[in-house]
Amino acid sequence: MHGQARLLLAGFIFSLPMCVYGASAGAGPFIAYGLPALIFVLCVTGLVALRTPPDRDKGGEEARRVISLVWKLSLTASVLGGIWCLGSWATAPAETRVYYPAIMSLGALTVGYCLMAARGLGPTVLLITLVPAAIALTTTGETMDFVLAISMIIAGAFQITMMKRHQGLLLSLVEERHQSAKQARMDFLTGLANRRALIERFLELAKGRRTLRLMVIDIDRFKEINDRHGHDVGDDVLRAFAQLLRIHARGEICAARLGGEEFALLAPVEALDTAIALQLLVEIRGAYMPHGEAVTASIGVAEGSASELADWTVLYGQADRALYRAKNEGRNRAMSSQDGDLTEYDTAPEPQARTA
Ligand code: GH3
Ligand code: MG
Ligand code: MG
Repeated sequence: MHGQARLLLAGFIFSLPMCVYGASAGAGPFIAYGLPALIFVLCVTGLVALRTPPDRDKGGEEARRVISLVWKLSLTASVLGGIWCLGSWATAPAETRVYYPAIMSLGALTVGYCLMAARGLGPTVLLITLVPAAIALTTTGETMDFVLAISMIIAGAFQITMMKRHQGLLLSLVEERHQSAKQARMDFLTGLANRRALIERFLELAKGRRTLRLMVIDIDRFKEINDRHGHDVGDDVLRAFAQLLRIHARGEICAARLGGEEFALLAPVEALDTAIALQLLVEIRGAYMPHGEAVTASIGVAEGSASELADWTVLYGQADRALYRAKNEGRNRAMSSQDGDLTEYDTAPEPQARTA
């Protein structure tokens, strides 16, 4: 809409010489020169205010500021244009009067069409310009003026209807786009971020060239749960496990499912202490899982500076190797790529079966 509003303001400016040239002889200097000058100042001010596109990072607040500005500019320009038309119409000789409402209709329909993206603005512009012009035309008693007035109202009503339809379509497209962008970054089973979203988060954090910590968390002997209780129960366990991780996804910490029974936490080092890995191991062991037993997990931890995508591969490789070592050392533990076994004093036994 930002682009359309700029185009519209430029269009107003280009039509101003016609306003000066075409104003009726008896309209007086205010109508002939004053109004076009006012519209010119308004349009230039608007073009300056809208010289840069809205900053997407500032979100809704910025969008609302632009929409409110476009509303004010286009309504004021339309009202001034309307006064020019009516003023000229009222003072023009009978044989040329009819041109002014016709010019007004063309202007109003163009403005309405151009501002279709701003809800309610197009219809408002059409109503405040076409209705007074149509009413003025019906007061002359001329048949052709009456025909023109009715034609203007029909054209305006038709355009308002089409605008509403287009707007509905536009809104549903925007909503669908938003939904599919969200789904493309979400793990379907658990609702956590997926691998793609995690890598995107990594790249976002990498813009600040920060040192990041990655924890790769893999459920121990998960295949046995599937084999003993079935795949559906396995899915329930994955969902319950994800819930345990989601609790830690606060502030800058991103929790994700990388695939299968492998999950991850990612954040700048200062936001994701290695103590969280130990706390997680305790929470996982202590949680009641849908198959009626507890599970354990193994965690691989790695840190590294991040500035580009290649750093992700390095960081993930280190965390994955640490995880592999944690598995080999007997599972149910956290292994750091730098500091070795973080859980050397925390070698809890394999979980016991629970009843409920
Ligand atoms: P380890 O302790 O070495 O990690 O052993 P594990 O059994 O957890 O690991 P393994 O890689 O041998 O088995 C992972 C299993 O996870 C095999 C696969 O069928 C299962 N799995 C992967 N994705 C899903 C899923 O979406 N739902 C369910 N229910 N099972 C899944
Ligand atoms: Mg596993
Ligand atoms: Mg695995």
